Amino acid sequence: MIDARSLVVVVEDEPPLRRFMRAALEASAYRVIDVARASDATSMITSHNPALVLLDLGLPDGDGIDLARSIRGWSDVPIIVISARGREEDKVSALDAGADDYLTKPFGVSELLARMRVALRHRAADGAVEREYTFGALSIDAVRRVVRREGVELRLTPTEYNLLLLFARNAGKVLTHTFILREIWGPSYTTRTHYVRVHMAELRKKIERDSARPELIVTEPGVGYRLRG
Ligand code: CA
Repeated sequence: MIDARSLVVVVEDEPPLRRFMRAALEASAYRVIDVARASDATSMITSHNPALVLLDLGLPDGDGIDLARSIRGWSDVPIIVISARGREEDKVSALDAGADDYLTKPFGVSELLARMRVALRHRAADGAVEREYTFGALSIDAVRRVVRREGVELRLTPTEYNLLLLFARNAGKVLTHTFILREIWGPSYTTRTHYVRVHMAELRKKIERDSARPELIVTEPGVGYRLRG
């Protein structure tokens, strides 16, 4: 019997890396389809409906960012970009194209598997709106819009609350500045990155033990922020 939940499509044009990833994933009980070309990726994803896609950016017949954007047009499958391109703008464009996460080569297998679990868990939780979230000492009652730290209620502004809830609903995922601006302020505000910086600083003062060394919502330099899920 085919279990589509454990199927991963690996899009990678370097044969040694493809073999390495297949071995690592199969050792963790995933089923793997690997392809080397963007065009084959599209047909495999369409016909096999995988649980997750691991996507290299430099492909012989196209760019992985274009492929991610195209997949997002017709599928919600989680996409983790795995690339040698480690520049901030590459990460931002991959995430803004609809990738769920980004790993820079070389990467460790345990890091890859952890990111995959987050992406899969997050997608499984999609649609089911949680009523309560707990992250370390922080708890969020999304029905009453009450946030507590170590049981003590915090006074958040509506924007800070909405920001925190956005992170809670996307726990473990890197949120880019553009994504945050679009979700909280709307599509016409996507260039006002200073809004995010200012409100994040205020939010951190309230939710973090030490806002200079945040533990709950960490900065992904030049890319955005991630709530540790
Ligand atoms: Ca490549």
